[in-house]
Amino acid sequence: AETEMIRSEKLKVVAQMAAGFAHEVRNPLTTIRGFIQLAHENKSPINDQYYLLVIEEIDRVNKIIHELLDTADPNAPDEKREVDPNQVLQDILTLQQPQLREKGIDWNLLLDPQLPPVYTDKNKLKQIFVNLVQNAVEAMPEGGELIIHTAVEGKQIRLDIGDTGIGMNEEILRKIGTPFFTEKAEGTGLGLTMSYRLVEEMQGKVSVESEPGKGTTFTVLLPLEEDEENTSFF
Ligand code: ADP
Ligand code: MG
Repeated sequence: AETEMIRSEKLKVVAQMAAGFAHEVRNPLTTIRGFIQLAHENKSPINDQYYLLVIEEIDRVNKIIHELLDTADPNAPDEKREVDPNQVLQDILTLQQPQLREKGIDWNLLLDPQLPPVYTDKNKLKQIFVNLVQNAVEAMPEGGELIIHTAVEGKQIRLDIGDTGIGMNEEILRKIGTPFFTEKAEGTGLGLTMSYRLVEEMQGKVSVESEPGKGTTFTVLLPLEEDEENTSFF
């Protein structure tokens, strides 16, 4: 039931992204403009704190734009080919290893060697899991365990990204995936929106189980076949 909720509800929410984006970008721009205006009128003390604020606001706008452009372009041409999800996850982990070590996070990879390839855009598949792994890492500031699990489940492949981090309460669980919803001071609230949308594009599903103080597991199910006729058998 949770899976179906995410599939339909979150899609609608993505349609609001343009409006949300305008709102998120307008606030920092207003701050920046106000300061420059004061400086121009010579009413502003030359104060490092103001400059830092402007830089922070510019960085924030930049981050939002960067994350949107990275994956949000629905018109970006797909480069579909056979992709090994295990390889994608291994690549991500290799990149993350320095960060994991530094934060005292152990990792546990249980990759099904029989996992068949998925016919998809490799960069998009990677982006889905980069976002989930990054969130898992950020949920474990005091260290913990990152659990990555792949398996075949009927005509789907199942990929679990688990952590032993801070977890989420019901209220947060309801809001995640909504564009710009974040609980982090430096967050953009775009990671899960991206991941959900990309999974949806691949005709897959995302579900999540979480317990405050215990941890979180995101499960992604991806269809092995695009053939609609065959799916009714399962
Ligand atoms: P961001 O990471 O920029 O905050 P996301 O869309 O990636 O944006 O995540 C939205 C919010 O969902 C996070 O701020 C956090 O509150 C919650 N969240 C996502 N993944 C996890 C996780 N693994 N553990 C705990 N909370 C999470
Ligand atoms: Mg994130």
